Amino acid sequence: MVPSILPKTHTWVILDSAMRALVTGGAGFIGSHLIDRLVARGDTVVALDNLSSGKLEFIQSHLDAGTVTHIQGDVTDFNAVLGAMKGIDCVFHLAANPDIRLGTRITDTDLKQGTLATYNIVEAMRRCEVKKIAFASSSVVYGEDAPLPTPENHGPCMPISLYGASKQAGEGLISSWVGTFGLQAWIFRFANIIGTRGTHGVIFDFIHKLKADPSRLEVLGNGLQEKSYMEVEDCVNGILHVMQQTDEPLNLFNLGSHDTASVRRIAEIVVEETGCHDAAIEYTGGDRGWAGDIPRAMLGIDKMMSTGYDVRFNSEAAIRHTAKALIQEIGINKEMNI
Ligand code: NAD
Repeated sequence: MVPSILPKTHTWVILDSAMRALVTGGAGFIGSHLIDRLVARGDTVVALDNLSSGKLEFIQSHLDAGTVTHIQGDVTDFNAVLGAMKGIDCVFHLAANPDIRLGTRITDTDLKQGTLATYNIVEAMRRCEVKKIAFASSSVVYGEDAPLPTPENHGPCMPISLYGASKQAGEGLISSWVGTFGLQAWIFRFANIIGTRGTHGVIFDFIHKLKADPSRLEVLGNGLQEKSYMEVEDCVNGILHVMQQTDEPLNLFNLGSHDTASVRRIAEIVVEETGCHDAAIEYTGGDRGWAGDIPRAMLGIDKMMSTGYDVRFNSEAAIRHTAKALIQEIGINKEMNI
């Protein structure tokens, strides 16, 4: 559990007018949806993104309108982070390697792009006197032995992936900058986030596999892996709602939906929605997709709900909604009977 450290008497910068936000990873899947919401409420946004997995087209309308500025830079480059931090009121730190599996092959990616990058962010905030940060953490910090649904105060957290370790380290750095240098932070542990503009993850992978070969769908593991899925607009609306409703020095929230769905069910939904009804679903076997994968995960969301926020989609509805949207985006043509 991450404790609240500073006394209640601590005072924060009150933002009574539109703010200037820095969104690291702003051209990414979740970042671009977050920027849509920030712009809609009147904020000015700087997106720091190296475009390694993000796409400028996701935020192009805001760039054209002048409400968002993109800085092509890397969060592992301290000077780039420092330059982007000038004049910022609040940082939304989302830039990271999004691929949990990558850690099985390249063992310093998450250390550099997660842990050290988060150090760069909080240290640049300290030097530029920026006080507020929201951080995209993950359910994987809880590891595989946590009770389900897992509440925020579960501990000790023992992540089993290198990605999870970097998220936990990021949380620790932020917590320490709150306790030592007076930052105010919101740490969000996300469930699996899915939706339009998705560029990775199980639904995206299944659609691409069926596009390449409509006769079969290979599923990693035995398909019984079961996790909760949250639609991306539910996620970004939840971030902004919780930030408006809470004001502790350190605010820790799970963001997820009410239930879970199995990988087997996701495969069935994607097969249905792509129209590849003859596809043979083949399981590679084993209880997990890859080393470091967590077979069963579900976040407790009572704390999120206690702020007056709830999701619009349950897991299965979010999966079907996402499958339909990504099939359009990826360009599978059902008429071609692929
Ligand atoms: P994404 O890949 O779409 O977004 C990451 C963005 O960061 C991309 O635009 C990428 O170009 C950028 N980026 C990556 N490395 C960078 C670097 N070194 N410097 C600058 N920019 C860099 O992934 P996403 O799913 O939108 O994830 C956003 C955040 O949410 C990540 O921190 C991720 O770990 C976290 N998260 C995502 C999920 C999920 O299910 N999608 C779940 C838990 C946590």
